Amino acid sequence: MDVNNVIEAGLDAPHPVVAKVDLLGMDRAAMEAYFTQIGEKPFRASQVMKWIHQFGVSEFDEMTNLSKALRDKLKQLAWVRTPKIVAEQYSEDGTIKWLLEVDNHNSIETVFIPEKNRGTLCISSQVGCALECTFCSTGQQGFNRNLENWEIIAQMWVANKALGCKPKEERRISNVVFMGMGEPLLNVTHTFPVARILMDDYAYGLSKRRVTISTAGVVPAIDKIKDEVDVSLAISLHAPNNALRDVLVPINQKYPLEVLMPSLYRYVEGGHSKKHVTIEYVMLDGVNDRIEHAHELAILLGDLPCKVNMIPFNPFPNSDYKRSSNNAIHRFKDILEAAGLQVTVRKTRGEDIDAACGQLAGKVADRTKRTLHRVHFEPRPLT
Ligand code: SAH
Repeated sequence: MDVNNVIEAGLDAPHPVVAKVDLLGMDRAAMEAYFTQIGEKPFRASQVMKWIHQFGVSEFDEMTNLSKALRDKLKQLAWVRTPKIVAEQYSEDGTIKWLLEVDNHNSIETVFIPEKNRGTLCISSQVGCALECTFCSTGQQGFNRNLENWEIIAQMWVANKALGCKPKEERRISNVVFMGMGEPLLNVTHTFPVARILMDDYAYGLSKRRVTISTAGVVPAIDKIKDEVDVSLAISLHAPNNALRDVLVPINQKYPLEVLMPSLYRYVEGGHSKKHVTIEYVMLDGVNDRIEHAHELAILLGDLPCKVNMIPFNPFPNSDYKRSSNNAIHRFKDILEAAGLQVTVRKTRGEDIDAACGQLAGKVADRTKRTLHRVHFEPRPLT
């Protein structure tokens, strides 16, 4: 069992101190192991998961198909830990942003983006981010800590509750993307189990096409996806060569394009026939949006099964960049399409409430931890 799921309770109470176990963040295997460990049948896991995730129940007394004795036992040993909603903001375009308090000092942001035929929830995986991508507001605010399982899946649980729907009956959240605060592949211990809960039929039952992990390119973790969670993959590429990517996405200095690109081919290999990678490319005026960049990108992507998602840059206070002009965006798109690539331009949503890509900031208490957790890059000559 993940020790991070064990919280100390009753610290003010007389001895013995009881360690309660959180059930919200357990995937099915962990929950089955837990029920076995407390002397119960493993199938209780699926019953409890249904209550928690499909019916939004956090009190054991409401889980009416469990015996009274089991409910009492669970009340002693476990809990379904859920965060407080500190703020809820509505955009004119229907986007909703929640600020969730995860401990006394930190809060994180979660965004719901409704569209005609789907609803996407953008979830955070860390408090802040250590990667320091120069165009991202989360990166500029520093890193505090990894989120735990319960804190990540709670974003889905809370959003369903706030939207007033039981996922079993009405699925307003049809897609989940790990594109909020943080780098999900630097926190796989917690993000992988959460992805499994999202896809579990006893929980949210989303198909693997509808759960997307977005990464700046943590290659060893990309290689684990296929075996451990098999979700959809989006890569924050943002530059067609190492010299530029080293500046925009500094983790490129550790995993440069000649290391990253083969990992994307490994990811799509052997999967079902329609498996592809989404390539995210933020459009920064005069920086990475020139004609030559588009040609270079088309060559770099070669015959990788992929879709390119161009993201007009979303500004934030003190950012050094500007959004590319519409002309530059269309010119870039035309070149990629002429090269045979499938390209979409991401619609900017929730800008009026700072909920657009790269604008999520939450509240990160101790930013100094950035230096403690910074990814150390080996110096490497630029290509
Ligand atoms: N760390 C992960 C997920 C978080 S960022 C990653 O790098 O993929 C989610 C997406 O928003 C990424 O593609 C990221 O590059 C993009 N993004 C970040 N800041 C942005 C900004 N200011 N404007 C537009 N897109 C941005």
